[in-house]
Amino acid sequence: MNGFLAQPPHWIFLTSLEYSLHRAARQGGMCLDTSYILSTINPVVGLLFALTFFLIWRQQPDKIHILHWASAFFLGSLGFAFEFLNYFDPMFRLSDDVNIFVPICVLLIARGVCLRYTGNAPTRMLVLILGVTYITACWINYVQQNAFGRSLSISAGIAALLVVSVVAMLKSRERDKIDFGILLTLMAAAVLVLGRPVLSFFVEGAPKIDVIENTSFWAASLKIVGLYSLLVFAILFMLRIAADLFAELNQQSVTDSLSGLLNRRGFFAAAEALALEANPSLPISVLLLDIDHFKHVNDNYGHQTGDKVIRTLSDLMLSSAPETAIVGRLGGEEFAIFLPNTCSMAALAFAEALRTSIQLQDHTGIPAAHPVTVSIGVVEGTGEDLELLLHLADIGLYLAKDSGRDQVRTAGTEMLVRDSRRRSGTLVRSAG
Ligand code: GH3
Ligand code: MG
Ligand code: MG
Repeated sequence: MNGFLAQPPHWIFLTSLEYSLHRAARQGGMCLDTSYILSTINPVVGLLFALTFFLIWRQQPDKIHILHWASAFFLGSLGFAFEFLNYFDPMFRLSDDVNIFVPICVLLIARGVCLRYTGNAPTRMLVLILGVTYITACWINYVQQNAFGRSLSISAGIAALLVVSVVAMLKSRERDKIDFGILLTLMAAAVLVLGRPVLSFFVEGAPKIDVIENTSFWAASLKIVGLYSLLVFAILFMLRIAADLFAELNQQSVTDSLSGLLNRRGFFAAAEALALEANPSLPISVLLLDIDHFKHVNDNYGHQTGDKVIRTLSDLMLSSAPETAIVGRLGGEEFAIFLPNTCSMAALAFAEALRTSIQLQDHTGIPAAHPVTVSIGVVEGTGEDLELLLHLADIGLYLAKDSGRDQVRTAGTEMLVRDSRRRSGTLVRSAG
């Protein structure tokens, strides 16, 4: 037998396969020890997930919870590598040392969950739990020399960290199926992490310092629970990140970036959905607003001032409209407000109040002697055809512009009847 293989330095055992080959060479036959193979899986899987989450975070650096999860998988990988290295070098002692990497991994998972679901994290509480866990485990381990007590105290600390994240998730009001999965997994992990040492105790008695066998139920169950936790958390967190990204892109596709209001597409989608839900016997009203002489605003005070005016008026519309209203920027300096369950009388009163407050609004860089004003067209209908309603509101808007601007108008009755016959769509009633 080769002398080098008979006495290899510990660093040569980079993989369980090498270790098994070494043993095979010593014993004169092939021997693949599953407990060693199992030991290599968690560090490698943890590291791969850490890298994956890190790369995802690099694409979305503002999502700090993703960085927490990447770091958690890295620490988890170190935690299991610590256990693994112990097999080859007595410096790393699975049986008589306190492995702090796994509790730090769970702290990072919990902090990431808190940040994702509540926007902040109870850092002091998490660090306090970690500190108490470490000190207690060290005391039980090094002073009391009790491996079972050490394991229980670490498990209790991990369970407490998980409970903090469960509480944070319960505080967040909106929960979809993925959140429900994460919540259940966090709770199951807390139960499992406490149940495993207890179960091991019943299966093979309390472990003793320095004599935990790698092939024991104690060690194998630790790695298997670790592996499943790594896999389930990684899959659920990835689903969460993907769903968040999808929702954001969806939101961006219906939002106007300058004003923050719904864009044309978003306005139509939201208004049509609301019209479908609305009681058909109740009227709805639509307002179409256009800023007067906006070209002059740009020409006289600059495009940036023009942009600020759009933002200010958008905020004003949003804050003055009823909560059930849908407000959108249809394009350029044109806006629409959809008012469910609103007759034209109420819509006209609202439009008039809005027109006045817009006229009274101050704008930085624009003299008060030249107020920015809007013309508004109003129409009442039952909402089956939003395009038609907007077209009719546009007739009102045109009349307002034609009559000198800075006013509210509905389309005249004759026009409405003619137009509604021509299009034979929505039932339209005129207020004017
Ligand atoms: P009217 O009273 O007849 O509506 O006149 P108007 O000048 O408002 O209408 P016109 O259609 O002639 O001009 C609209 C202007 O709105 C022209 C365009 O440069 C400006 N505009 C459109 N979108 C934006 C924007 O996002 N920001 C700025 N600053 N200006 C915009
Ligand atoms: Mg205009
Ligand atoms: Mg216009």
